[in-house]
Amino acid sequence: MTQQIWDVETDVIVVGAGAAGFAAAITAARTGASVLLLEKAGMPGGTTSKSGGTIWVPNNSFMRAAGFEDSRDDALRYISSVFPR
Ligand SMILES: Cc1cc2nc3c(=O)[nH]c(=O)nc-3n(C[C@H](O)[C@H](O)[C@H](O)COP(=O)(O)OP(=O)(O)OC[C@H]3O[C@@H](n4cnc5c(N)ncnc54)[C@H](O)[C@@H]3O)c2cc1C
Repeated sequence: MTQQIWDVETDVIVVGAGAAGFAAAITAARTGASVLLLEKAGMPGGTTSKSGGTIWVPNNSFMRAAGFEDSRDDALRYISSVFPR
């Protein structure tokens, strides 16, 4: 077995190369930090690569501006039913 030599200095270490990890890594890099992004799987992407990529933002300002009605109460009822206390 080949011995791996770990000798890296970095400002930020991000563990996991999914959406959250990439967002954190890119955000840190944009501030000028050096970033090491670690991924345990054979390829990056994680659950994010299986995602439908759909974003649901109930009762948002863009929908309202476009004249769509989206009830805040209905959204809260739905979220409560999916994520009960
Ligand atoms: C079929 C499916 C469809 C979906 N559709 C949607 C949708 O339409 N809209 C939506 O908003 N959400 C959806 N989701 C949920 C969404 O994909 C996840 O909530 C989101 O991708 C999670 O992102 P993440 O960066 O937190 O995790 P992940 O993308 O899973 O990334 C975590 C990464 O960390 C790595 N990791 C874990 N432990 C370690 C370790 N110790 N060392 C190194 N690396 C490690 C993993 O291998 C992985 O690559 C869906 C999920 C699935 C499964």
